[in-house]
Amino acid sequence: MANASETVLVIGACGQLGSELTLALRDLYGPANVVAADVAAPRQADLRDSGPFEQVDVLDKKVLADLATRYRFSQIYHLAAVLSASGEKNPKFAWHLNMEGLFNVLDLALEQQVGKVFWPSSIAVFGPHTPRQHTPQHTVMDPNTVYGISKQAGERWCEYYFRKLGLDVRSLRYPGLIGYKSLPGGGTTDYAVDIYHKALNGQTFECFLNQDTYLPMMYMPDALKATLDLMHAPAAQISVRDSYNVGAMSFSPEEIAGSIKKHLPGFDIVYKPDARQQIAASWPKSVDDSVARQDWGWQPAYNLDTMTEDMIANLKRLKAAQAV
Ligand code: NAD
Repeated sequence: MANASETVLVIGACGQLGSELTLALRDLYGPANVVAADVAAPRQADLRDSGPFEQVDVLDKKVLADLATRYRFSQIYHLAAVLSASGEKNPKFAWHLNMEGLFNVLDLALEQQVGKVFWPSSIAVFGPHTPRQHTPQHTVMDPNTVYGISKQAGERWCEYYFRKLGLDVRSLRYPGLIGYKSLPGGGTTDYAVDIYHKALNGQTFECFLNQDTYLPMMYMPDALKATLDLMHAPAAQISVRDSYNVGAMSFSPEEIAGSIKKHLPGFDIVYKPDARQQIAASWPKSVDDSVARQDWGWQPAYNLDTMTEDMIANLKRLKAAQAV
C-alpha cells in the first residue's frame, strides 16, 4: 500500500498523463514529497502551485544525478517521450530522446538505489503482423513507427534491468488516454480528446481517422488507477517485467461520435484521414489484459458511455468556471 515516507520524482510531469498523475501521487504521498520535473515550465496552475517543480532535461545526466542526491527518491515515474505522430516528423530525435532518456533513468535508479521505477510503454509496440483482436500479452511484435520501435526496445531493456541488475522497474502498455484536464501530446489517438472539445464548442469535428478505425482506449481515472495499482502490488505478484497489456474499451470514431450525440444531438463529424490512419491501421483493435487482471487485479471502471458522460459534465463545468 501507499507509504507516506516515499519521495517521488515524475519526469514529463507537464504532459497529458504527468499533469494528472503528479496530482494523484501528491494526494497519496503528500505534496512536498512528489517532485514534478519537465523540460517545459508548468502551465497548469494546480500542478505549479501544489508542490515542488524542477525544470530538468532527462537527457542531462548530471542534473538528474544532482536532483536525486538532493531529494533521495524512492520512486521515479519516467513519462517524458516523443509520441507516435510527432516521432514520425523527426525519427532520429524521437529515438534519441526515448532511448537515452530511459537509460539515464534506469542507470540513475541503480546508482542511487531508487526502490521502484515506472516507465510507460504503449500499444504502439504491436504492428501489422500482430493479431489485432484481443491482442495477447505475448505475441508477434513488429512495430513500424519509430515510437513503437523505441517502446519495444525500451520494454526489452526494462526486463533486462530487472532480471540482470535487480532493478524493480514496472510498466504498462497504455492504450489511447482520454482526459478532460489536459490536452494530448502528438499521438495517434489524440482525436478522441479533441472531439469532446469541438463538440462542446458547437463545431463540426474533422477526424483524421476513418469512421470504422477501432483502437483500444482508456479514460484517465482508469489509467491513474492502473498505474498506482501496479506500483503498489507486491513485487512477487508482478510476473511481467517487460510491460503489461491493460485494456478498458475499444471504439471507432463513428461510435464515440454516437456516444457524444446522446448528449449533444446537433454534433457533427466528418472524416479526413491523414498519415495517422496508417499508424492506427497497424495497431490492435483491442487487447487481452487477462495477465494484468490475474497478477494484480486490474479492472477498469469506465466504458465509452460512462466516460462520455463524465467528460462532457467536467468540460462544461470547466467552461462555465472560465466564463466567470
Ligand atoms: P505528452 O507529450 O503529453 O507529455 C510528455 C512530457 O514530457 C511533456 O510535458 C514534455 O515537455 C516532457 N518532455 C519532453 N522532453 C523532455 C525532456 N528531454 N526532459 C524532460 N521532460 C521532457 O505525453 P503523455 O501523453 O503525457 O505521455 C506520457 C507517457 O505515456 C509517454 O511515455 C507516452 O509514450 C506514454 N503513453 C501515452 C499515451 C497517451 O495516449 N497519452 C498512450 C500510450 C503511452
